[in-house]
Amino acid sequence: MDWPPATDDRLREWARRYARTVDVDAALDAVSWEVSARAKRRAGACIHDPETGAVTIRLAARAAERFSREAFEAVVRHELIHAWEYQQFGEAGHGRRFRKQADRLNVETTCPTFSVPRLRLYCTAAGCDWSAERHRASAVVTDPEDRRCGACGARYEVEHVASGETWRTSAGYRGARDRIEDW
Ligand SMILES: [Zn+2]
Ligand SMILES: [Zn+2]
Repeated sequence: MDWPPATDDRLREWARRYARTVDVDAALDAVSWEVSARAKRRAGACIHDPETGAVTIRLAARAAERFSREAFEAVVRHELIHAWEYQQFGEAGHGRRFRKQADRLNVETTCPTFSVPRLRLYCTAAGCDWSAERHRASAVVTDPEDRRCGACGARYEVEHVASGETWRTSAGYRGARDRIEDW
């Protein structure tokens, strides 16, 4: 299979299938899977509803884009240990019980995180999938009409990742910058 999966549904299906290959005692039929398009820091999270006992593993679509498949498999294993803890003990953490399983399954003992770039550039041409990442407001970001896609030479669009604001001109940049509270 290609990595990352092309859609959230496919990512969820991949995770469900991968979980079946992991040697963990979690009751997988009782685990729900979600993909978050918005999560920007935590690559995975295990959510427990103490009222119903329901356990949900939520995976960040943006982490799947940034991690290798092997690294993302480790995210799934990490969250599966939490799922097992919630199912067995009604609580989860990174203490001795977790570390024992983490050691066995070769995963980190802190919840896996990732970071996204502040800015992304996308080509506007149909069929061109060029994109680039930027952290600072250089001329590439503030004056995009003077520059072109690095692959095909078409215009590109700048996106401020956290807010979703986009622009293609320096006037557009100034307007967006005014609206964005958290640069
Ligand atoms: Zn954790
Ligand atoms: Zn292009």
